[in-house]
Amino acid sequence: MRVLVLGAGVIGTTTAWYLAAAGHEVAVIDRQPAAGMETSRGSLGQVSVTHPEPWAAPGMRTRVLATMLGRDAPLRMPLRFDTSAWRWAASFLRECGSERFEHNLRQLAAFAVYSREQLDDLRRQTGLDYERRDQGLMHFYTSEATMRAAERTTAILADHGAIRHMLDRAEAVRVEPALAALGSRLIGASVGDDETGDAHKFTRELARVAAEQGVHFHYATRIVGLVRQAGRITGVQVQPLVGLEPRTRTLTAEAFVLAAGTHSPAIARQVGVRLAIQPAKGLSVTVPIRRPEQLAQRSLGDESLGIGITRLGDRLRIGGTVSLVGDDLSIDERLVGRMVARGRELFHDACDWHKGTTWCGLRPATSSGLPYVGRSAIENLYLNTGHGALGFTLAAGSARALVDILGGLRPPVQFGFSGPAGQSAARSGQQTFRPAGAPSDRRG
Ligand SMILES: Cc1cc2nc3c(=O)[nH]c(=O)nc-3n(C[C@H](O)[C@H](O)[C@H](O)COP(=O)(O)OP(=O)(O)OC[C@H]3O[C@@H](n4cnc5c(N)ncnc54)[C@H](O)[C@@H]3O)c2cc1C
Repeated sequence: MRVLVLGAGVIGTTTAWYLAAAGHEVAVIDRQPAAGMETSRGSLGQVSVTHPEPWAAPGMRTRVLATMLGRDAPLRMPLRFDTSAWRWAASFLRECGSERFEHNLRQLAAFAVYSREQLDDLRRQTGLDYERRDQGLMHFYTSEATMRAAERTTAILADHGAIRHMLDRAEAVRVEPALAALGSRLIGASVGDDETGDAHKFTRELARVAAEQGVHFHYATRIVGLVRQAGRITGVQVQPLVGLEPRTRTLTAEAFVLAAGTHSPAIARQVGVRLAIQPAKGLSVTVPIRRPEQLAQRSLGDESLGIGITRLGDRLRIGGTVSLVGDDLSIDERLVGRMVARGRELFHDACDWHKGTTWCGLRPATSSGLPYVGRSAIENLYLNTGHGALGFTLAAGSARALVDILGGLRPPVQFGFSGPAGQSAARSGQQTFRPAGAPSDRRG
């Protein structure tokens, strides 16, 4: 089948590779001059299978309220006049209820475990080099409440094969001596055997491999709109961004996969498909490493500041924070300062802290934390978007599952895939692939 993928971030590129591997004729469109240049560029690179908690969690309502009142918190939701943002925020608050949280967590855990299996397989097949490390992931806690919540979550994750272990303060310091710098503020930690890697390098390298296998990448090409005729998508209107005459032309295909990150809702809206995705800004700062022996071996998650710390080759990246501020790409130096301060506190002079490069990106966030993967209300328009804080973690699983769905098969994982229930299942002779209780914003 001829398939057009809209967007060459980590999601679109991985989808293109899987589609080509399944024998489809594939082309990808992106406005950037290369793959992975937007949100997939400065990620922390955690394949966070053992810590996939959605942001919408019990206790988060109070934290959101605190930000609205102007106090500092990891998730910042300032007041602004945008009805879709307000609808999203109301839905987010509903998803914070403990039942919804557990439902979403279970879905993410199952999908993340499946995705890790697919990533292993992809790496075996391609031999990709992307600064991968498999030393594990440790989240540390500086409040009793977050530690107790993490203990409850650990038990739920175990049901799905996402295994992590809780450590008390002494055990945490024994495993990662750098945490001793936190003194009595450290309550404990959770540790899993997750891997990390440079998501940007992964995307770029996978695009190179996919191109060698025949995938055509239309870079520096803006998607202007979708062409809909007789209830189907027949083409994508595009405009080249280089050259003197930006003439609009139409690229045609039999199926279309929307993977345009935070821009997916605007593209989908043109053909009447509503996607509840909001841009959630995050920052990262990357510094050269001078003394690797002083660093943590594992990638770290700091629950109190809402940040993570990862080694990527000879660089250390600290990133995170969540601001729902629309398309604003300005960098809050105060937040960067706080990240660097935490790095210095833990690792002292292990890095050239004054040589940091800062970056920010817009995560495509749904209120539940669950991405749209599957069909839309339009028969040949497929969705692979809205991965929020877990795009690198879920890329391989989402792409592999989408290829199954496009081929009329039910993916072998318990997850609330998007789209009219049962359509493809009917062809594969299986049950519907939308599990009962899937969240309301998951319809195309
Ligand atoms: C600070 C930070 C840290 C993160 N850390 C992690 C982590 O450790 N682990 C993890 O799993 N995830 C992490 N994430 C999340 C992850 O980066 C995202 O989920 C992921 O990058 C989303 O990928 P995407 O392909 O959907 O979007 P993008 O990478 O944004 O790709 C969308 C593509 O669509 C193209 N596009 C959009 N509109 C148009 C148009 N009109 N015409 C042409 N092209 C268009 C864009 O150019 C872009 O290349 C982090 C995010 C941030 C911000």
